[in-house]
Amino acid sequence: MSSQPTRIPAAWQGVIAHYRKRIQITTAVPPVTLLEGNTPLIPAPALAKSLGGEFELYLKYEGLNPTGSFKDRGMTAAMTQAVADGARAVICASTGNTAASAAAYAARAGLKCVVLVPEGKIAAGKLAGALSYGAQVISINGSFDDGLRMVREAAQQAPIALVNSINPARLQGQKTAAFEICDVLGGAPDWLCLPVGNAGNISAYWLGFKEYHADGVVASRPRLLGAQAAGAAPIVLGHVVEHPETVATAIRIGNPARWHEAATALEESDGHICAVGDDEILAAYRQVAQLEGVFCEPSSAAGLAGIAKGLREGWLDLRGMRVVCVLTGHGLKDPDTAIRLSVAPSIIEPNMVALMKQLKIT
Ligand SMILES: *Cc1c(COP(=O)(O)O)cnc(C)c1O
Repeated sequence: MSSQPTRIPAAWQGVIAHYRKRIQITTAVPPVTLLEGNTPLIPAPALAKSLGGEFELYLKYEGLNPTGSFKDRGMTAAMTQAVADGARAVICASTGNTAASAAAYAARAGLKCVVLVPEGKIAAGKLAGALSYGAQVISINGSFDDGLRMVREAAQQAPIALVNSINPARLQGQKTAAFEICDVLGGAPDWLCLPVGNAGNISAYWLGFKEYHADGVVASRPRLLGAQAAGAAPIVLGHVVEHPETVATAIRIGNPARWHEAATALEESDGHICAVGDDEILAAYRQVAQLEGVFCEPSSAAGLAGIAKGLREGWLDLRGMRVVCVLTGHGLKDPDTAIRLSVAPSIIEPNMVALMKQLKIT
């Protein structure tokens, strides 16, 4: 039997190549890319059912980006711009994922990379990434907010490009996730739910949805549901949180740099922002893994926890709606939390009697 090779569709070239005309960065140099983006939008019927059903739920699984989080969408744009501007080095403050992403894209571009992380508050997979890609990792006895203040000053005083999400190129890259969702669904969802930390991502999504709507690509825009951790909820509280604390380390931020843009996005979209407790975040984190087989990091489950809370408390009505929940980072980023929350494996002798006992088959 002769077989023909199956033709693979033209390969994905990354978010800048795919959405070139919509990304407002320089075109002077080829994109610095790891072929990020084009992440799956996974239907989640079992999870929707457990939340009371009556709505369509999709998971935008951003953990499948090259370094395991959505930060890669922004980093391809920021790093390309940095190269075009002639930068020799980049710097950022990070709760972990920005550090790993910046380190990878800097390696790709041949730039030096310096990252500031809060000592003891960065998940193992993120630190492993940043170190492996060859970044200079500096651990500060302080918070992400302290780190951001320091790198902003460093970028003023030294010839080093800042790649945090206060860099507008980051948002240009990150808004492509909104385009992808619309392109796959054939329109905008009714609600988009996501965790909010420094508030760059919610601002970027809103940019993307607004742009597609303004250009007539889609007929509507979603309402935004942002979720902050209860111990790090400055936007919900309306004031800076001096000592943010949460198990969701990626959103452990007390003074979001994109606070104003996020507030505007929430207002323009007729959205809502809520605070969810660590217990609610971890419950959602386990649910999405065990009901749908999708493993995200704890912070990523905050949006889902927000949906659960809204439905339970009655301030959210999703009946008949199409809802997209953004899972921002991969579960393997934080293996310690995953293992800590689970029942330890049982240890047995290598024989069948012992195994059959475990199988509870008599
Ligand atoms: C960065 C990050 C967030 C928060 O995004 P912001 O743009 O800072 O609001 C949420 N989840 C994960 C996994 C992240 O890496």
